[in-house]
Parts: sequence; C-alpha cells; structure tokens
Amino acid sequence: MIPDQNQLRRLPSVDELLQTPTGQHLVAQFSRDLAVRAIRTSLAQARISISAGASCPPLTGLLVKAEDILEKEQQPHLHSVINATGVIINTNLGRAPISQEALQAVQTVSHGYSNLEYDLTIGERGSRHTHTEALLRELTGAEAAIVTNNNAAAVLLSLSALAHGREVIISRGQLVEIGGGFRVPDVMRQSGCSLVEVGTTNRTRIQDYANALTEQTALLLSVHPSNFLITGFTESTPLRELAELAHNNGLLVMEDLGSGCLLNSEQYGLTHEPTPQERIAEGTDIVCFSGDKLLGGPQAGIIVGKADSIASIGRHPLMRAVRIDKMTLAALEATLRHYQRGEATTHIPVWRMIAIPPEKIASRATHWVTELQKHGINAHTQHGMSTIGGGSLPGETLPTTLLALDAMRVPLSLDEFATRLRLRPHPIITRISRDVLLLDPRTVLEEQDDEVVLALVGELLTGANH
Ligand SMILES: *Cc1c(COP(=O)(O)O)cnc(C)c1O
Repeated sequence: MIPDQNQLRRLPSVDELLQTPTGQHLVAQFSRDLAVRAIRTSLAQARISISAGASCPPLTGLLVKAEDILEKEQQPHLHSVINATGVIINTNLGRAPISQEALQAVQTVSHGYSNLEYDLTIGERGSRHTHTEALLRELTGAEAAIVTNNNAAAVLLSLSALAHGREVIISRGQLVEIGGGFRVPDVMRQSGCSLVEVGTTNRTRIQDYANALTEQTALLLSVHPSNFLITGFTESTPLRELAELAHNNGLLVMEDLGSGCLLNSEQYGLTHEPTPQERIAEGTDIVCFSGDKLLGGPQAGIIVGKADSIASIGRHPLMRAVRIDKMTLAALEATLRHYQRGEATTHIPVWRMIAIPPEKIASRATHWVTELQKHGINAHTQHGMSTIGGGSLPGETLPTTLLALDAMRVPLSLDEFATRLRLRPHPIITRISRDVLLLDPRTVLEEQDDEVVLALVGELLTGANH
C-alpha cells in the first residue's frame, strides 16, 4: 500500500510532543533523553501504521504510547514471581526465598554503614567472618567456620588451599555434575590438584582408597551426589571410615555436602539427609555446603571444620576473589539465628513449606476451587507431589493437593494459558501434566493466595474473548 503522504505529514515533531504538558511530565519523571527516545519510538510506530493504511493518531495517542513504552522499559528486569510449581528449592526461580528477619537484616545493614570489617571494641580493622563464625560453630559443632560467595567457590577455594599440586582421592560414583557447569573433575583440575578416581560407579570400599594412597596424596574427598540417585547394588564408604584412614596417614578428609541441611529431614517424611553436624562428629576435617538450598538462606558457601584447615583457607589468595558480601552476610546471620532459636520450621520459608501440614494445603487448594466457582469457573483439586528441588534430596517427594484446570475449561490451549500467566506483571509459574494445568499451593506464599485466584479469574474470563 502507498502511504498516505498527507497523514504522514500530519505527524507532529518530537519537539512538539515534548512541549505538551504530558511531554513535560514524561521528562520530569524519566529524564529528557529517555522521553525523547520513547517519543521517537512512538512516532516510528505511528509511521508504520500509517503506511499500513491507518490515519494519523491524535497527539494524546502518541503520548500515551510513549508513556507506555517508558513504563514497560523502566520495570525492573529482575522481579518477583509466584512459584506455583511445587518445586520448593527452584534454582531457576531464585532457589530459597529468605525469611522476613533475613530481609530486614539486609535492609538495616546495607542502607547505611555497618561494622562489616571493623572491631568496635578496639576501634580497628576486624574480619567479616566473625559475624557468623560463632553461630556456625555452635550449630555444627565444628572448631571453625568461614563463608564465601557460594558453595562452588567454597569447594574450589578449599581444594586450592588444602591440596594444590597434590593428589585428591575420590570415588568414581561421586564424580558428578551438579548443573550449571559445576563438574567435580573440572573443579578439581581448576584448583590445581590431581584427581585420583577409585572404585566403580556403584561401589567403592575403604580398601579402594587405601590402595590409592601415595606420598603425593593430600586429601580424601567425598561429594554428595545431590541431584541423582544410584540405587540397587551399591556401596559407598562411610565418612567415619574415610576419616580414620585419612587421619592414620596424616591426611585430611573433606566433604562437599551440597545442600547443608541442619535439621533432621526424616521428621518431615523425607529420607535422611546427612547434616554438617553429623559429618563433623564423624571426623570430617572440612565440610562445605550452600546457604540457599536446604539451609533456606541467601546464596552463600559455608565451610566448617578444623581450625588449622580453616585458617589456611582464610589465608589463600582466592579468598578475596570469592568473599561474601555484606548483604549476604546479614541475611545469613539472621537465617542461622532461626536455627539457634529452634524456630526454623516456622520462620524459614523453605522449611515452612516442607513442614506445612497436608490438610492445610488441601484446604487452600479447596478454597481456590471454591473462589473460582463463584466466577463460574470449574476447577478441581487433585492429589499430587511436591518436590524439594535444587539438587537436594533427589527423588524425594511430599504429598500435596493441587489445583487442576482441565484443557476443556480453558479457552486457549493449556500452553498458551500457562504463557499468559507467565507474562503477567506479577508472573505465575505453573506446570502442565497430562493435559491438566496444575498449581501447587505449597510453594505459593499464603499472602499470594488471593492474587492467584484473581489472576486465574482475570485470565480465564478475558481469555474467553480471544
Ligand atoms: C549445589 C551444589 C554445589 C554448588 O553450590 P552453589 O551454592 O550453588 O555454588 C556444589 N556441590 C554440590 C554437591 C551441590 O549440591
């Protein structure tokens, strides 16, 4: 189509639009540069529509468009979502949500200055590690503790400090990839130690380790397989035996525990997840774990163990490269205090979600269904399983009650409907299984219940018009 030159000529200039009260308002709110850019985009879009046969939009139309562009552009790119997937430690959705107290601590410590590296009693430089060390010692029974940016860093740093240029013995069954490119053999190579694999994928005995000892051996490493299970004809070596062998030969034993579960997981219907405190009691010299998996705190790496090993780790040059930030440290200290006060299952979101009674979940799902019915929407509840996720407790599930919407009830395809829920200003992440859209109340924060119902009603009723 030939563009109507008259219509194109009627388009105002950028300056004309900027001079209007709305234009001035955009400048005040977003800056002149951003306002000019958005107005240019708005004009360019109008030119395209005119070329396609539309007539010139009014000034207000052009300005509303520009404002719309600016508002969309200024939305934070990283923002909150509602997790209705039932995967509690959802790596893609930010892993562990932190507690109110942890959030408050971040705010208090980072809005102004803090004693991050300042010893107030002597008025001199202090260490950032003092803020959590005593708590970690108390909670795990270790002699000493130090923290890093994440557990991958904790493992790399510990191996670099304790085994560089020497041999590290590990079972073949533990040469795992955790995800996100963290492969145990690569991390070992990166830390400058040589990997000595022993045993087989499914069975490794203490004698395998003993046979591999040389003058060059620095430590025996155990890695929690985290995200997979080897079942059937299996045998792994208890940490106590590894520790005995290591210590009889003047060596160290280290474990990458992955999740860092401080509570007794069996109490919540899960299999036993080894705890740092158990490992310390079994004689492990160094135990590393994450801050944001089952610990339920911020992203961090925690290293607990023997005082002299921790001191070597603290002195290593990599320590500076992987050091923990003040916001993380504030959130971590607040999270550890929940454990100290015995209130983890009521205050730490991850544990609250694990410990929530099944009837509570069922009643929330039923409530969602009832609310939807009030709007003429037919949904039903369905038994299902929530998972722990985050490479913790693989294969472990918790029985739950889901809200289910059949394909028949949804005006679009289920995929399209799930996409619409995802593209909302406050996205809702769901899952689809066997032609049913499922929402698990377990991972939805209770204060988000009404929002979920309203969103479903909104999308279902507007979706009907499409
Ligand atoms: C998750 C995990 C890591 C990595 O921890 P991050 O805190 O994500 O860096 C390392 N080792 C094991 C065994 C894990 O499960």
